[in-house]
Amino acid sequence: MFGIVIHGGAGVLRGHHDLEAYRKGLDSALSKGYSSLAEGGSALDAVVAAVYDMEESGAFNAGVGCSLTVDGRAEVDAGIMNGNDLSAGAVASLDSVRHPVLAAKRVMEDTDHVLLVGPGAMAFLETYGIRSDPELVTPVKLQKLNELRQKWVAGEGRLAKNRIVYDRGARHGTVGAVAIDSKGMISSAVSTGGYWLKLSGRVGDSPIPGAGFWADSRFGGAVATGTGEYAIRTTLCRYAVDLLARQECAQSAADAAIAEVTRRFGNGTMGIIVLDKEGDAGFSYNTEGMGRAAFFSGWEKPLVQVFPEDK
Ligand code: ASP
Repeated sequence: MFGIVIHGGAGVLRGHHDLEAYRKGLDSALSKGYSSLAEGGSALDAVVAAVYDMEESGAFNAGVGCSLTVDGRAEVDAGIMNGNDLSAGAVASLDSVRHPVLAAKRVMEDTDHVLLVGPGAMAFLETYGIRSDPELVTPVKLQKLNELRQKWVAGEGRLAKNRIVYDRGARHGTVGAVAIDSKGMISSAVSTGGYWLKLSGRVGDSPIPGAGFWADSRFGGAVATGTGEYAIRTTLCRYAVDLLARQECAQSAADAAIAEVTRRFGNGTMGIIVLDKEGDAGFSYNTEGMGRAAFFSGWEKPLVQVFPEDK
């Protein structure tokens, strides 16, 4: 048995400007991840293949499509975990890197560290030819940033404690994947631009093991999406995998994790995907939509859904 679950971000709205491209992006990433497993690739290879594809797509808030900070920078975060030995690698506040998931994998495999940030990380990555890509800050994105800033000044949207407008309409598309391969290895990976108007230097849940991602091949894996600060404060992915360790199935672990976030921080905040070692997938979110997809060996066809009523 082998299979993969992915998400394309919680907070997708029915009025999303290009739902078709978004759904196609999910389809494409699922098939990249699944094909990698079917060709004998490891769970690690599969999550990298899926996340890489979504980073390249432009339809998601990761890699090419990443959001911008309040001062117009593309600062991206990513994380990856090997559930066999709990090795993990992550990067945060990388300046305009197109495929931060590859950078996170380098940190996991080629350093003694778990998390590298900012200029030090960029210097390390330079040795692998991973550099800033000016294409991540486009005139279209700068225009959108300008509009959001104006709304902020006009007092629209929700004002957070740190005075950043968290504009729901602008938010969607962090990406993540959890996979199990035929040898039983479980891995997870995540990549994000964070959210529009975040302060430069802000780090979310995505590069924090236990918060934005977790994998333990004895039990399962999880990846979170939504307002990262809440996933950090609840160590959400570790919370979900701990439930798997206590014999909960993937769906009930996902539901319990999101119920906990909703109870503490309210609706419209988070989503999670969970995969357990039996090869079951769980999806839960308290936002209007969350792009999600899964495919396991033995299934007749893949599942690709965005809204609650999607079958
Ligand atoms: N969790 C991401 C962050 O807070 C954003 C998202 O998932 O939409 O950086």
